[in-house]
Amino acid sequence: MPRPIEALIHVSALAHNLARARACAPDAQVWAVVKANAYGHGIEAAFEGLRAADGFACLDLDEARRLRELDWRGPILLLEGCFEARDLELCSRLKLWHAVHCEQQIDWLAMHKTHEPHRVFLKMNSGMNRLGFTPQAFRAAWTRLNALPQVDEISLMTHFSDADAQRFGKDGIAHQVAAFQAATADLPGERSLSNSAATLRYNQLTEVRADWVRAGIMSYGGVPDYPEHDANHWDLRPAMTLRAKVIGIQQLQPGDSVGYGSSFVAEAPMRIGTVACGYADGYPRHASSGTPVLVEGQRSRTVGRVSMDMLAVDLTELPHAGLGSEVTLWGQGPKGSLLPIDEVARAAGTIGYELMCAITRRVPVTVQ
Ligand code: PLP
Repeated sequence: MPRPIEALIHVSALAHNLARARACAPDAQVWAVVKANAYGHGIEAAFEGLRAADGFACLDLDEARRLRELDWRGPILLLEGCFEARDLELCSRLKLWHAVHCEQQIDWLAMHKTHEPHRVFLKMNSGMNRLGFTPQAFRAAWTRLNALPQVDEISLMTHFSDADAQRFGKDGIAHQVAAFQAATADLPGERSLSNSAATLRYNQLTEVRADWVRAGIMSYGGVPDYPEHDANHWDLRPAMTLRAKVIGIQQLQPGDSVGYGSSFVAEAPMRIGTVACGYADGYPRHASSGTPVLVEGQRSRTVGRVSMDMLAVDLTELPHAGLGSEVTLWGQGPKGSLLPIDEVARAAGTIGYELMCAITRRVPVTVQ
């Protein structure tokens, strides 16, 4: 008997979320961002649900190769470009578009022998200070690239640090948008600015609109600006469900504790279910006692610390629940019930992105 835990990937939810990205940015082409093994959903499963995208954006050559093996012939963008000079060979062979964010990547291109010129996305550091040329250095980088026979098309991109912030203005993305516009005003080429948060929140603003949006977390039904907004607000559907079964039952008396460190102590008689899911499956160990779960579709909570292979849930008010009961850790539960991953992430002091990416290899995946 396999251990009773699984991750379900909902293909129809992926397709729905992609349609939402299109609706938010009707004039743009949509890249489905599938880096980090499609945010933990698996490239193959994600491809099934997101194949109507105009392109796929990924991080490394392995992800790009897997997409080509799935017979994807459309655009693939390497979001951080090449990590070493010899990556350019595979970029040529797989016909990948790639970001260029530093002088070294231009040096590699200049030395690269290719029959087919490359399409590159020149990246501006408009304020995030992670990757990219400063607005002051941008034009010189563009001019250098433009002179290379190895390059036939230069597009322009930047990335926002605060698109999920409460305001567009100060502390939001306005200063980055202004820096990008000012430094690129007279440069030709397609543009890409927005991640999910900017696509959802700001695409109605002319200055934010561009040729391509990069839809990551929203493709998977995660909400970039939770708790200000939730999935209902943005009409997004969870593409991943993590569920497991109750494999043990304990009766507690007042004063009895649960789990390592005895951090939870019962104040009244309680009935506890032990669930086959722990931090070695990717469930966050930092989820505090009281993190929401669904038991047979009804809300309850975790009690005590999460251990490597198990966690405990409160069944006191759920007399029908017992051994074998289904516990939804996040995602879609039975009878139309829902437990947003963002709510669980918040209880663990993290974000939905991290939980999706953290599902480990020992969790069997069912694509449906
Ligand atoms: N574009 C770039 C350059 C990124 O690094 C990321 C993710 O971090 C995205 C787009 C997608 O962001 P999100 O998942 O918030 O939509």
